[in-house]
Amino acid sequence: MAYKIIASKCTACASCEDVCPNLAIREKDGFFAINPKKCTECSGHFDTPQCVAACPGYKTIVPDA
Ligand code: SF4
Ligand code: SF4
Repeated sequence: MAYKIIASKCTACASCEDVCPNLAIREKDGFFAINPKKCTECSGHFDTPQCVAACPGYKTIVPDA
């Protein structure tokens, strides 16, 4: 399980990038994306996904179901 960024909602504010304990979020060519192979949904680190908590958008980062 991993989270994903809805590109059309992302304003590229970068708030999520540095809060990820797994360094799963990276910017490339102005777009931010979560590497699903690195995202653990913050399991073992935090009770809630830190990227979701940091994002100023609404439902911009969602579970990749
Ligand atoms: S849910 Fe946690 S591990 Fe996954 S991308 Fe967000 S901050 Fe990183
Ligand atoms: S915090 Fe939200 S709006 Fe900002 S770069 Fe990350 S996903 Fe995009």
